[in-house]
Amino acid sequence: RITPYGHGEYLLSAIDITQQKQLEDMRRDFIANASHELRTPITVISGYLEALIDQADKKMIPPLEKIQSQTERMTQILEDLIVLARLESKELPIYPDIVDLAELLQEIHHDAKVLDDGRHEIILSADQASIEGSRSELQMAITNLVTNAIRYTPDGGTIRIFCHSLRDTIQVGVEDDGIGIPPEHISRLTERFYRVDSGRSREAGGTGLGLAIVKHVLDRHNAALHIESHPDEGSVFRCDFR
Ligand code: ADP
Repeated sequence: RITPYGHGEYLLSAIDITQQKQLEDMRRDFIANASHELRTPITVISGYLEALIDQADKKMIPPLEKIQSQTERMTQILEDLIVLARLESKELPIYPDIVDLAELLQEIHHDAKVLDDGRHEIILSADQASIEGSRSELQMAITNLVTNAIRYTPDGGTIRIFCHSLRDTIQVGVEDDGIGIPPEHISRLTERFYRVDSGRSREAGGTGLGLAIVKHVLDRHNAALHIESHPDEGSVFRCDFR
């Protein structure tokens, strides 16, 4: 850090952050290893559960199905934790790929409509634009935003997936007219497991990790996430690429 003081004089200070970096690496590796280790036993439990449900008498089916849905949740949480650990552990990449955003958004729009099954009106308005980046990471991030819009917008609502190509910025995002978010929560939404209403998130199949993944992918693309939201009016999640 260089701090100016006096006339034409500067103070140069340096701090050794080796230990802090080692601790961060340990935390990241621990989460990645624990998630990997847990994946196998959960896969085995799921397999046995399916077999049990096939053979169970009527009375046992509801509790077994409850166990099954919780097992699916655990699997989803582990998958998301593994994705996050991977995003964190990779060096900042230089992307050789040019991603055609209009084409990518068309695919995401199509998949969203299939997932949504007609519960919302999902609109796409995309300018022609492309950026250097990882297609698979961008697809994952934008899909997370669309999934959230579906999750937190009551049936009959409208969701718009957009891409605006401005002079020096490309804005990609998702707008909904759903439940919205009270202002005091907005700055914390990209923290892991941060949820405005955890009951609602769990019920809707959320893991609390979706926006943390979005934030990581955007950091790796030198892009910024902007969130605008009003309770009972809706939200806009916008990614700005420069
Ligand atoms: P989750 O898996 O719980 O959806 P996320 O990290 O994707 O986790 O989002 C964090 C929280 O942000 C959610 O639990 C929800 O409270 C809020 N949120 C995200 N997207 C929206 C949205 N489009 N409308 C309203 N709330 C949202």
